[in-house]
Amino acid sequence: KIINENMNIVIVGHVDHGKSTIIGRLLADTNSLPEGKLEQVKETCRRNAKPFEYAFLLDALKDEQAQGITIDTARVFFKTKKRKYIIIDAPGHIEFLKNMVTGAARAEAALLVIDAQEGIMENSKRHGYLLSMLGIKQVVVLVNKMDLIDYNQRRYEQIVEEYRAFLSQIGVEADLFIPISGFMGDNVASISNKMPWYNGNTVLEKLDLLNNQKGVKDQVFRMPVQSIYKFTAGGDDRRIIAGTIDTGKIRVGNEVIFYPSGKKSKVKSIERFNASRINEDIAGSATGFTLEEQIYVTRGELACIIDERKPEVSTRIKTKLFWLGKENLSSNRGYYIKVGTQRVRADLEEVITVLDASTLSTTTRQYVQRHEVAEVIFKLEKEIAFDRAENLTETSRFVLVDNYEISGGGIVVDSLEDGKDWL
Ligand code: GDP
Repeated sequence: KIINENMNIVIVGHVDHGKSTIIGRLLADTNSLPEGKLEQVKETCRRNAKPFEYAFLLDALKDEQAQGITIDTARVFFKTKKRKYIIIDAPGHIEFLKNMVTGAARAEAALLVIDAQEGIMENSKRHGYLLSMLGIKQVVVLVNKMDLIDYNQRRYEQIVEEYRAFLSQIGVEADLFIPISGFMGDNVASISNKMPWYNGNTVLEKLDLLNNQKGVKDQVFRMPVQSIYKFTAGGDDRRIIAGTIDTGKIRVGNEVIFYPSGKKSKVKSIERFNASRINEDIAGSATGFTLEEQIYVTRGELACIIDERKPEVSTRIKTKLFWLGKENLSSNRGYYIKVGTQRVRADLEEVITVLDASTLSTTTRQYVQRHEVAEVIFKLEKEIAFDRAENLTETSRFVLVDNYEISGGGIVVDSLEDGKDWL
């Protein structure tokens, strides 16, 4: 049977809680490693008189990738009977945000790891908050290292209760908790006999029960324009408008409109690299299309379909963001905001509230410190196109750049009138 269903997942959690070990275990137990890799890594450990760690598998794969044997450095794959999973390895907040916002690796579900012995850390909560803020609703919480607490049911239930209370405070309904040991393999690919009190699913079973992208394909069409390729065909100058489809689908004959410019035309053909022409393309694919009319569109515009819901176009936005910058977010500095493929200058106009994402306590002041979440208003140098998060999270996500570094990210919650309108 050919499996052609994919699902992108991210794995997050406090450092050392076991992310790499769990990934290694998933790869090994689903036979997704290159032939002989497991034996090779075990042998290396033996020779160096070092105990074998599943996390080494990931390092070994990364070394291989670094040598150019596999192309993609940030992703690993494993498959079940149902589908292929792509793990977007997000070692830190910054990588995670970059991944989330570039859309190149949009996650449909997340594994959040908590060390059963160490318990819930500030980061366990922050990551949970961030996932929900960025619209990743399917979160499976793995209470790891159960072997270190003698598979104690009481302790597991304490963690579940405490974390569930936190999730419900931030509006996430989660009943997806699994007690596991990544190290021993308990409840990862097969049910453990050490926890007879647990009668839920294994990690793999749970993943297979999650919904995939379907929702995204059924949404309105959104494709941030990445680049325009010019070519000549039969003496005509033609252009291919290229990008990755964030949501929805596009067909030959669809009337498309580009925002913020408002330019329109009809799709003449859909072209993919190294593929024959197709009539339709869907969310997740890198695609390109030609138009009936020769209109001048630029990188950064958002391609939409005329009959579908319009995106917002604005120079003033209310956002919810997570700040990671070394310097505070403040109105004394200028930033760049990146939404889709658009990049414009942004000035902080007002901080509405500041929130500590691990304690959920709020304050009001006019700057935001590292690791804080805040609701703020930005004034932009020119119009951008986006969706409000409640309509479509994918195209509401943005990152903020401070002095060439990604320093924050979040979602646009509202499109505001330009300040001058109510002066
Ligand atoms: P990461 O920083 O979240 O990727 O954590 P790692 O996967 O590197 O694990 C950190 C340490 O915890 C390593 O020494 C692992 O061997 C250990 N570890 C991870 N999972 C388990 C587990 O289920 N049981 C035990 N006993 N140790 C574990």
